[in-house]
Amino acid sequence: EGTCDGFFRVVLLGDPGVGKSSLVGIFRREQDRETAEQQQELYQCTLTVDGEDTSLLLMDICEIQKRTDGCDSALRMGHAYIIVYSITDRSSFESASELRIQLRRTRQYENIPIILVGNKTDLVRSREVSVEEGRACAVVFDCKFIETSAVLQHNVQELFEGMVRQIRLRRDGA
Ligand code: GDP
Ligand code: MG
Repeated sequence: EGTCDGFFRVVLLGDPGVGKSSLVGIFRREQDRETAEQQQELYQCTLTVDGEDTSLLLMDICEIQKRTDGCDSALRMGHAYIIVYSITDRSSFESASELRIQLRRTRQYENIPIILVGNKTDLVRSREVSVEEGRACAVVFDCKFIETSAVLQHNVQELFEGMVRQIRLRRDGA
């Protein structure tokens, strides 16, 4: 139900430079390493969460899409979304809200899992967006929220496990 060859399509959205490629790159398999250098945008990964396997197709495609149709097809093709901003860049936080609004507009009647991610928590001194602001934004936009550091690999596993749980909640009709 709702999958493509058993994979859930998880699309990453967010301004350039916020860390989308770094976040998905953590799930890059050894054999992908060479192609990843050549800007690969699709990653398959299978996560075991609560004793059950779920396969994700992570789609880091926004920057390609932007050139052609302003992300429109990215907003249509995902089963789930990860909207990333950098806690060191307030304008990327504002873009995240804008993307959430666009997504709601595009997928009005669907209850799609969305996680708002404040990345780069290791850059403590450059923080421009507080945890409270991120959390409040997620409440307003009715999505989950987590802060991560791709560089320290902090909360990245939790992010993707959270995504899997969100997908299962929808699947199980909760
Ligand atoms: P994208 O454009 O959203 O795909 O962002 P990238 O993954 O290419 O990252 C942009 C830059 O931010 C790169 O120089 C990364 O090394 C850096 N970066 C990504 N995530 C983090 C993070 O969690 N902490 C820090 N300090 N830098 C990060
Ligand atoms: Mg990128």
